[in-house]
Amino acid sequence: MSPFPQQLLDGYRTFRNERLPTEQSRYRELSERGQSPEVMVIGCCDSRVSPEVIFDAGPGELFVMRNIANLVPVYQPDEKAHGVSAALEYAVNVLRVKHIVVLGHAQCGGIRAFLDKIEPLSPGDFIGKWMAMFIKPGEVVEQRDHESMVDFTVRIEKAAVFRSLENLMTFPFVRNAAERGDMRLHGAYFGVAEGSLFVLDQATKEFKSAS
Ligand SMILES: [Zn+2]
Repeated sequence: MSPFPQQLLDGYRTFRNERLPTEQSRYRELSERGQSPEVMVIGCCDSRVSPEVIFDAGPGELFVMRNIANLVPVYQPDEKAHGVSAALEYAVNVLRVKHIVVLGHAQCGGIRAFLDKIEPLSPGDFIGKWMAMFIKPGEVVEQRDHESMVDFTVRIEKAAVFRSLENLMTFPFVRNAAERGDMRLHGAYFGVAEGSLFVLDQATKEFKSAS
């Protein structure tokens, strides 16, 4: 068996020596009482967009679900296993989170693959199939006249957040909790280069700088 990555062992040592002493009581409390995070974050797998780092969250504070391009599928109760839906069900029905945040980001590889239709990301591949759910039947995603590739990409990265928020509401338990006012849905977008966060203003449908 190949050795465990040294980078991770070193990182764990730093965690144990520097961070754990200040958080030990919190970990112990969480282990005895269980977790009760108030926020679920649905983010991308991208290694540059870690919700715990961006929101400076400690243990037990965020219930995080990450996948390619921070996508939420539509509610589809069938015989298949659905990972995102299972995480959602747990967050809403068991943990009773008060907020769900869909966190999109700049330079998203999943969105890029989708826009470029690059090989081998055909509809037959996992990423191709996964990204296909972003599109509604009959919907066409195209670069607008005079729209640069960068602007087009950002527009679609943000559209992925809108689509996920829309799809979240197809889950009866999400819709019920949201309509009762027990839970709120939010959108956000992270600019990797600047480390900047933009929060979706639900009224204007625009992302506004959080700083
Ligand atoms: Zn991404």
